[in-house]
Amino acid sequence: MKHYQKLIENNKAWADQMVAQDPEFFVKREAKQTPHYLVIGCSDSRVPLELMSGALPGEMFVHRNIGNQVWETDINLISVVQFAVGVLDVEHVIVCGHSNCGALKAAQGPTTNGLIDNWLSDIRNVIRWNASELHACPTDETRLHLLSRLNVMQQVGVLSRMPIIRDFWTRGKRPMLHGWVYDIGAAQLSDAGHTNDGPRPLARPGPVSPLLGRFSTSRPCHRPARPARGHPSPSSPR
Ligand SMILES: [Zn+2]
Repeated sequence: MKHYQKLIENNKAWADQMVAQDPEFFVKREAKQTPHYLVIGCSDSRVPLELMSGALPGEMFVHRNIGNQVWETDINLISVVQFAVGVLDVEHVIVCGHSNCGALKAAQGPTTNGLIDNWLSDIRNVIRWNASELHACPTDETRLHLLSRLNVMQQVGVLSRMPIIRDFWTRGKRPMLHGWVYDIGAAQLSDAGHTNDGPRPLARPGPVSPLLGRFSTSRPCHRPARPARGHPSPSSPR
């Protein structure tokens, strides 16, 4: 069997398993979707948004691009936000970055990546605006981790300036905005320290500002402690 054909076989096995647990599971979801979350994530294959969060079909509306970016001029992204917030009435919009992101690595280097350099230009702005903090990080790894958090915060800031979001907030409605980072090696999601749940003074385009919400001024350039996980020792009871 070709490796790509295995995907179709896997689908059948997964569907059979789900139906065995709930014969109506898929039928109940066919007529409409009522997701609670819009997640804007990176296209990276190691960041399976639904799988890593345990979200079931119908719970999560998803948009992905390189570097989990939010551009006010991206008609694709704007359409997704408009539909998710205005029609599906999602309660939470989550921007999810991740560790060891290739887009963030490339943005730190020279502009020799061709067309994609255009797409990375906003991340280069994040690097420029936060140069002193990033330079203070002791290692490339910690610098990249801090950049992943700063990038997520920046994208949440852009979301909070979007007219569709501000219009809902001024009418006292949701959504709440969140910035999260996923540590690939630890399979651990964490809050990047930026949650925004209502109208604030409209900030100018540029570096993330405290005006944009409950912004953590503590942005240490170290990775969160990884949880102790592992296999039971040979002496552990089974
Ligand atoms: Zn990435």
